[in-house]
Amino acid sequence: PRTHATRVALVTGAASGIGKAVATRLAAEGACVVVADLDLEKARAVAAELGGTDVAIGVSANVTDAAQVKAAIDEAVLAFGGLDLVVNNAGLSLSKPLLETTEADWDLQHDVMAKGSFLVSKAAARVLIEQGLGGDIVYISSKNSVFAGPNNIAYSAAKADQAHQVRLLAVELGEYGVRVNGVNPDGVVRGSGIFASGWGANRAKTYGIPEEDLGRFYAQRTILKREVLPEHVANAVFVLTGPELGHTTGLHIPVDAGVATA
Ligand code: NAD
Repeated sequence: PRTHATRVALVTGAASGIGKAVATRLAAEGACVVVADLDLEKARAVAAELGGTDVAIGVSANVTDAAQVKAAIDEAVLAFGGLDLVVNNAGLSLSKPLLETTEADWDLQHDVMAKGSFLVSKAAARVLIEQGLGGDIVYISSKNSVFAGPNNIAYSAAKADQAHQVRLLAVELGEYGVRVNGVNPDGVVRGSGIFASGWGANRAKTYGIPEEDLGRFYAQRTILKREVLPEHVANAVFVLTGPELGHTTGLHIPVDAGVATA
């Protein structure tokens, strides 16, 4: 199996937060990285930070649009000669109680996370199968795909959809040596655009605490009492896609500092 230093990775939603941390870690390990995002300027800026066009390029791709997804995958192959690793990270969250959740809220979150990662995985799988070298697909799902919390039915249902895609594709793509795994983060407040753009304020309201205390609040309710940062999620992606876990597929790794279940 090849190490990250010889691989080409594409990360969706990599202009910000967890995706940016994943792209940064993979580039630090020597991978060539395609930073794909809705926001082209930010994607290009992240790619430039990673070292410029020899090691990273920024591309614009709305993951809900099959043609844009295909174009991004084609650009990866054109720029770096192949594709080995894809991370379905693009996402957004509108935290609302059931009675305030509109059809548009439901559709948007399912379009970006459930349909978007289906489209990305499909376009990537076509290339991975054709290359015949195996590969990795990783989903950044969520603790919310497994545990039920208040005021986020549309988001959590879309995350649960992603989690099942991991299992389904692990089965379907195994014969091609393509491993499909997931990471379930929780409480990544610092650096997260999702938290900055409304979700944080909403969660703070739900829990009755000031928004600036949210990182500490999440940390305090974990088993380890530790705050989860984007880098910790990136560590999990690195380990999951490395040769040492070459016999693991269909797995979800929680990166949530521990959740008490009893
Ligand atoms: P973020 O807002 O910092 O990053 C999300 C990125 O996705 C943004 O750059 C955004 O432009 C991009 N994006 C949104 N819609 C897109 C689309 N249609 N096409 C392409 N790109 C698009 O948020 P984050 O906290 O880093 O979240 C990243 C992922 O991690 C999401 O899937 C999120 O659900 C998941 N996650 C986050 C947490 C957390 O605590 N922050 C917890 C569990 C899961």
